[in-house]
Amino acid sequence: MEQNRKEGIGKKGIIDESDTFCIIGAGPAGLTMARSFRDKNIPFVVFEKHNEVGGIWDINNPGSPMYESAHFISSKYLSNYFDYPMPNEYPDYPSNRQILNYHRNFAKEYHLYPYIRFNTFINKITQSGEKWLVETNAKEMYLFQGIVCATGITWSPNQPRLKGEDTFLGQILHSVHYKSPNLFKGKRVLVVGAGNSGCDITCDAATNAEQAYISVRRGYHFIPKHILGKPADVFGDGAHWIPNWISQLVFGKLLKFLVGDLSKLGLPKPDHKIFETHPIINDQLIHYLRHGDVIAKSDIDYLDKDSVVFKDGTKEKIDLIILATGYNWSIPYMDEKYFEWKSGRPDLYLTLFNRNFENLYALGYMETDGGAYKMFDEMANLIASFINAKKNHHPSALQFEKLIQKDQPKLNGNIQYLNSGRHSVYVNQVAYRKYRSKVQKKMGWPELKTGQFNRLKTYDPISLDNGSILGVSK
Ligand SMILES: Cc1cc2nc3c(=O)[nH]c(=O)nc-3n(C[C@H](O)[C@H](O)[C@H](O)COP(=O)(O)OP(=O)(O)OC[C@H]3O[C@@H](n4cnc5c(N)ncnc54)[C@H](O)[C@@H]3O)c2cc1C
Repeated sequence: MEQNRKEGIGKKGIIDESDTFCIIGAGPAGLTMARSFRDKNIPFVVFEKHNEVGGIWDINNPGSPMYESAHFISSKYLSNYFDYPMPNEYPDYPSNRQILNYHRNFAKEYHLYPYIRFNTFINKITQSGEKWLVETNAKEMYLFQGIVCATGITWSPNQPRLKGEDTFLGQILHSVHYKSPNLFKGKRVLVVGAGNSGCDITCDAATNAEQAYISVRRGYHFIPKHILGKPADVFGDGAHWIPNWISQLVFGKLLKFLVGDLSKLGLPKPDHKIFETHPIINDQLIHYLRHGDVIAKSDIDYLDKDSVVFKDGTKEKIDLIILATGYNWSIPYMDEKYFEWKSGRPDLYLTLFNRNFENLYALGYMETDGGAYKMFDEMANLIASFINAKKNHHPSALQFEKLIQKDQPKLNGNIQYLNSGRHSVYVNQVAYRKYRSKVQKKMGWPELKTGQFNRLKTYDPISLDNGSILGVSK
């Protein structure tokens, strides 16, 4: 490989890989993109800053938001990669370690490891003529045909400043730094934010802290992990033919019946209908609230030395505040001009295609109301189909380019998502799939088929690496 590499180095020390696509990140999105590129014989390489695959699911990947007690939030039945079910012995909601193993086995089975360059942090990507110049932390420079950004959305903590925090005597941590409940021993802990991570972390505090509190700004609908013995997403899956407004009505009533009135537990009443925010799938928190192991508090007003004063006027002595206040999305290795950022989210066609720059794609820059990986697979297949059509000068490529520039589909399935940054690129899974499928059919690009990736399980580096000098690095 060294030999090949030297031959590929141009005058300015740039390694010419200009027939090859470059994926940044070997998390779930990068892995599924790699499988689709292999499937369509599109030459590619993956750069990964960490020493293994799995993205955030590797708790040892520096900066990962994973914590020891984390389990999947969507169930294993609807969260697997296409044509790659999770093992039978896995529980309905696997642990973070099981999910990590699942990703690693996926990468092994489809022979993706040889295409990944580990311990390679991407510093900077710029356009150079019609190609893309990629600079690594080792100051290596590569020229690629195209880029797929797949570096995830949960690396840069959104940490609001709290009034009085400079003189606060306790500790303040963002949830990205929370790993183990041992941290809570003997402390009075306040978790801020009731997203899925916030709820999980509060439950850890419930059984380990001296006293746990959760501060919420608004009321949420808490969906139990199981409904009538079935995982919640499996229970809801059969009802996709029902219009969303009916589902909202029926599910809303069912939830009231199953969970009851949460305002009795000190939580505010939701100011929106069910499904209008990212679902909180958690029944444990309600259990702990009902047992007094967690006490619900309103929004924080200010910090007063060793205490927190809440907007309802109450005051609690607190040793540790965990801010489960989410993440700022960023693509830090690319200048802002390459992506149009709206409400902190990149504006991309179908959340994938850059409208202004050719051969610049992103996968994983969206949130949705269910397991993401099958969707990632379908999205990766769409990107690879477009690249293939362009390569073969198929007329559909031009047609699709026009859509990238002009088409502005609504992908909310007529659900009025809350008007917040988080929901600005939030897609309704059913509406997205329906629309993507319609466009794909129009282009004549096939949907994924069961068994389509099987041939990739047999690795033949000579016929499959397409001559990429990096493709045979391991
Ligand atoms: C606690 C928690 C629970 C979740 N539960 C679910 C669930 O139940 N179901 C579900 O579908 N989703 C869930 N998610 C969403 C989760 O984000 C996805 O499962 C998935 O990990 C996203 O994959 P990704 O590849 O887009 O990003 P990531 O997993 O973030 O992977 C990005 C990769 O890029 C690498 N990278 C970053 N920057 C660089 C750089 N500059 N150079 C080189 N490499 C770089 C990183 O090391 C990483 O390997 C959960 C998220 C969290 C935080």
